[in-house]
Amino acid sequence: MNRIPVAILGATGAVGQRMIQLLANHPWFEIAVLTGSDRTIGRPYGELVRWVLDGNPPAHIANMIVQPSDKVADVALALSALPTDAARAYEELWATQTAVCSNASAFRMTPDVPLIIPEVNPEHVTLIDDQRKNRGWRGALVTNPNCSVIGVAMAVKPLADTFGIAQMQVATLQAVSGAGYPGVASLDIIDNIIPNIGNGTEEEKIETEPNKILGTYAAGGISSAHMQISAQVTRVPVIDGHTALLSIKGQHSMSAHDAIAAIQAYKSPTIVQGLPSAPTQPLVLHDHPERPQPRRDRDAGNGMSTSIGRVRSCGINDVRMVVLSHNTIRGAAGGAILNAELLVAAGYTRSN
Ligand code: NAP
Repeated sequence: MNRIPVAILGATGAVGQRMIQLLANHPWFEIAVLTGSDRTIGRPYGELVRWVLDGNPPAHIANMIVQPSDKVADVALALSALPTDAARAYEELWATQTAVCSNASAFRMTPDVPLIIPEVNPEHVTLIDDQRKNRGWRGALVTNPNCSVIGVAMAVKPLADTFGIAQMQVATLQAVSGAGYPGVASLDIIDNIIPNIGNGTEEEKIETEPNKILGTYAAGGISSAHMQISAQVTRVPVIDGHTALLSIKGQHSMSAHDAIAAIQAYKSPTIVQGLPSAPTQPLVLHDHPERPQPRRDRDAGNGMSTSIGRVRSCGINDVRMVVLSHNTIRGAAGGAILNAELLVAAGYTRSN
């Protein structure tokens, strides 16, 4: 099969680099275009990128010339790792012609833009039909959630399906790579914890995005779930891997035993099971009392699985648990690539 040409928007950043790494031997996709800002446009990728991953960028990628982000290329798919302002300026332009899978927060809560985790709400891609009708686009725009929300929404999906969720308290311990490069100053984060990210905006994302993701598609829109969510976030001196501590109250009460049984029984929807980047086991349940841990568990399922541990009863709500997911793989680059694979499988990429 001829591989599908893709563009990476914001290819020189931390998430763009992960996309390049994850697409190195991808069976369906081939990198055709890399874009950047005025800092890098017109120069070979390898010259100005500050590579933050192990090793070096592949030689053929290092030689590619960085293109402007405001010029739509003739590709079937664009994976966007642009910062929010640039995403707001350019992603809709690309979506007129091509299917855009974005990491940025700019359009996540826009009513006709699907906010997708393929294992959780693949049926929300149908919203693209309404999007194309409303906007006259040949392409499409889909987004993946905030990097902490992805793990949380995956972990609670079996509980939402089985018991319903009335409310949830979330406390996060988020890795420094989540802030991009150069990110948080070393003198702020070494030997320290910072009890705020994005001045309240990160908590707002955790309190709103899960209701769209776990909502239902009907009659041209997403009808939101009605979970009450309270979030508190911290930045901690971990390189990769966001941890979330959850306390959950069901619409129907559940015991820890019930929750464990629902998580163990959970399987990816059929359309997701054959996708190249889908983990065989989307939820990895630990029974050891000191797992999951970022260093030991973030690479589960090649960084695409969500790890869950310490599922136990809660003195205030029904159950408590610890959730861990890899923020730049599952929470960003890998999530966008899996969304792109879902769009191909569901027939939403153009064939010419
Ligand atoms: P980053 O390291 O700061 O990289 C930003 C990229 O965008 C670079 O390629 C940069 O190009 C380009 N860029 C910056 N300003 C631009 C402009 N005005 N026009 C065109 N291109 C521009 O950021 P990141 O951590 O990779 O994050 C990228 C996006 O993913 C953000 O929206 C972020 O919120 C989201 N996200 C990140 C994570 C994470 O864990 N890091 C997780 C989930 C979502 P130059 O190098 O040429 O300047």
